Formats: sequence, structure tokens, C-alpha cells
Amino acid sequence: MTDTYLIKYGEIFLKGKNRFIFEDALVNRITEAVEKVEGRFKVYKYLSRVYVECKSDFDEEELIAALKKVFGITAICPVRVLEDKGFDDLKEQLVKYVAEVHPEADFTFKMLCKRARKNYPLNSQEMNCALGEVLLDSYPNLKVNVHNPDVLITVEVRERIYVYSKSIPGPGGMPVGTAGKAMVLLSGGLDSPVAAYMISKRGVKIEAVYFHAPPYTSERAKEKVVDLAKIVSAYTGPIKLHVINFTDIQMAIYQKCPPDELTIIMRRYMMRIAEHIALENGCMGLVTGESIGQVASQTMQSLMCTNEVCTLPVYRPLIAFDKQDIVDISEKINTYETSVLPYEDCCTIFVAEHPVTKPIPSVIEKHEHNLDDCIDEMYKKAIEEREIIEIK
Ligand code: ATP
Ligand code: MG
Repeated sequence: MTDTYLIKYGEIFLKGKNRFIFEDALVNRITEAVEKVEGRFKVYKYLSRVYVECKSDFDEEELIAALKKVFGITAICPVRVLEDKGFDDLKEQLVKYVAEVHPEADFTFKMLCKRARKNYPLNSQEMNCALGEVLLDSYPNLKVNVHNPDVLITVEVRERIYVYSKSIPGPGGMPVGTAGKAMVLLSGGLDSPVAAYMISKRGVKIEAVYFHAPPYTSERAKEKVVDLAKIVSAYTGPIKLHVINFTDIQMAIYQKCPPDELTIIMRRYMMRIAEHIALENGCMGLVTGESIGQVASQTMQSLMCTNEVCTLPVYRPLIAFDKQDIVDISEKINTYETSVLPYEDCCTIFVAEHPVTKPIPSVIEKHEHNLDDCIDEMYKKAIEEREIIEIK
């Protein structure tokens, strides 16, 4: 069995002098991920490569599943690590390797030899020819195909020699923590957990805020959001979830503002409060699950109107996604089943029958003044009395 995995990463290569920061973050994120896997593992960086070495018995499926959730990894390659005992020994070991890893021994292949250590007696091209030949001699059903091989057999000569021929795709992206922090407005719906996943995939650490309206929304609705945050945290790492009691503000809007503007005014208050908490917690942006035209509050006019109340950038990773694209991702990341559970959401309870689809900012602002006598106090109270749940 393989006990070492070579971790390949993509864009980190483009980072020039800052590259070590990204590599170190990747090592740290992998270390955290394998801590949850049964067994002992050593994660390390060596000459611009990241390796996971298994130091005890472990379940390969469990390890791979954990690594597939670490952003920054483009591929996971099980490698055979050999001591350099001369080229004849390498030939022998390679023949054995193929028998063990590809027992069917019936495929086309290409040899890809690389030397990080230039004092090796053969150059890369000579190694390709000699090692290819020994495999052809040993296995009658193997054929060379240099343009489109079934199997690419890589042999890297470093201090030791690394042989690998399988590559399991990773999630891509950048290691979490390399791009600052953002505040996600997390509802119990389908979209915002996917938005959280996507922004985090670019290396952004996340916190989240959820607005609930007890007793109009139940404890179960809140639990659903906590459950979603837990599922997403398998990718994003720990999440600090701020739960805001939004009932008083919503009731005030309901009583004092025009019914068709309820949703948009409510959304504006969500954004204001989210920005307030974001700034207090060192977040550099807000994140929502909005997508153009999905509902009345997500027309271009409505988005303009909600955007207007914040100064932080608002990131909307799903802005150009169709609903089905979002559903596909939610299935892939395992949030779908939880998102479609039928618990009420504060947006749906107070929704008007015919919400405005083309709100005019100045008009909305004018109607928000109806709240002048009470809103400051409610706003302060909602923030001060929020509940904070640490999702591990
Ligand atoms: P979702 O599926 O994410 O709930 P949605 O399609 O229901 O989105 P809206 O209800 O208009 O759309 O919400 C748009 C965005 O506003 C959501 O994606 C989310 O980021 C944020 N949001 C909505 N309701 C809440 C809430 N109760 N708490 C926190 N954020 C919310
Ligand atoms: Mg929603």
C-alpha cells in the first residue's frame, strides 16, 4: 500500500516571492484536515512539493475524502518513495510498482522522468527510454503512446526517487486564510451556503450572520442554518456564526413602511447590520447568495438599492448562475438535502404579495424615515444581544 501522497497545487505556482506563504497555508490546512482522519500523518513541504506521509494504519478512502475538501489542492497522487540504489535497482522497482499498482498490465503509457538532482548518471530522456523499454520487455500488453497515454508514469529523481502514476482530482482554489476574511449572510436557503463555499474556495476565511425572527421563525429554522454552517465548515474551516434577532426591526418595517417595499427595506437593514458586525470582526467584504433576476429582491434595480447602504464591497459569487447550476454545486458539497428542508425563513413570512421589482433608492430612503423614532435603538439592541455560535 502507498503510504505517501504527493499534493499538487495550481495557482500557488504563480505567486512568485510570496509563494511560501501560500505553501505554508496549504500545509497548515492539510494538517488540520488530516487531524480528523484516524491514524498518524506527517504533512510537510520539501523542495517546493507538499507531501502527506502516513505513519500508522489508516483508511485510504477516509484520507482522500478529507484531502478533497482542502482548497488549494489540484491533485492527490499516491507515490512510491524509493531509496536511490542505482539505476538497475530503479528498473526492478519500477517493474514491481507496475505489477502492484496496475495489475491488469494492459494499457498505453508514457514515461515522464524528471531530475531535480542533475548529478544522476542518466539524463531525463535516457531514463525515459531505458525505463520504458524495461516495462515493454516485462509486460507484453503494454504499449507506448506519447500523445494520449492511458497512464502517465512519472519518475522524479530527488534525494530519493518518487514514482507515481495516479492522480486524484482535488477541489482546486486557494488555501483558506490566504485572502483575508469576509462576512457571509447565511440563510437556510440553497444559495447562500453555496456562495460561502465558493468565496472560501478563493482562500477567503468566513464568518456568517443569520437573521431570525422568533417566534415567527422557529428554533428548528435556526438549527437548520447551524447544520448548514457545519456542513460548509468542512471546507471553510471553523465559522463564527452571529445570530441576530430581527423580529423587532421586521415588525417595525411591517407596521410603518409600504407593504410592497417590505422585502427591500428588510434587506437593506440586513446589509447594514451585517456590515457593522463585519467591520467589528475584521472582515473585508460581505457575501450573499444573490443571483440576477432570481426573485424580486434580486433584480438589477433591487440589488442597486440594497448595495447602496454599504460601503464594504458586496461579493455575490452566484450572480450569473442559473438555479440549476447552484443546485448542482449544493449537491456536490452536500448542503442540498438540508437546504430543502421546509422550515420557514424570515424573508418568506413577511413577504408582500406584490413586492416592488424596480425600487427607486430615493423613495425607499424616504419611507425608511418612517422608522426614525425607533430604529436606532432596535438596531443597537439587535447587535448587542446577538448570539454567537462557534462552528467547529
Ligand atoms: P438563499 O437560498 O440563500 O436563502 P434566496 O434565493 O432565498 O437565497 P433571498 O431570500 O432574497 O434569496 O436572499 C438573498 C440573500 O440574502 C441570501 O442569499 C442570503 O445571502 C441573504 N439572506 C436572506 N435571508 C437571510 C437571513 N434570514 N439571514 C441571513 N442572510 C439572509
Ligand atoms: Mg432565502
